[in-house]
Amino acid sequence: MKRLLPLFLLLGCSEAKPKEFHLDRELKPYYEDFLLEAKKRNHAVETERLGFVSLVSGERYLGKCIYGEGVLVNKSKTQMDPCTLRVVIFHELGHCLLDLPHNDEPGAVHIMQKKFEPSCAIYLYLWEELLDELFEPNTR
Ligand SMILES: [Zn+2]
Repeated sequence: MKRLLPLFLLLGCSEAKPKEFHLDRELKPYYEDFLLEAKKRNHAVETERLGFVSLVSGERYLGKCIYGEGVLVNKSKTQMDPCTLRVVIFHELGHCLLDLPHNDEPGAVHIMQKKFEPSCAIYLYLWEELLDELFEPNTR
């Protein structure tokens, strides 16, 4: 038992080191908008879960959430289109920060649907409704 004591002391004294957060400049407005929309709807978001929101290129996905780590957004697939970036970032943060699964309800548009709509404009047209749905769990 004596041998375990130093280990307990060590664990008790060590503080969790805050993650360094990397946010690509081009993605900053969308990330900040997500936090703002969450706040407007009284949805608490644990941003410390994320280590990065970064651009990548050459991958097959539009975006990707790596749970507990961060969000990757594909520069080449999104072609840096503002509408696409917005939807992709909100979708991936929906996974990474809101723990949301996909919602593939037929005939409906959702931020959390797996397949991206052929025209991004449909999301913007429905944006406020889509956001209410995305942040719904804590607003009811
Ligand atoms: Zn997804």
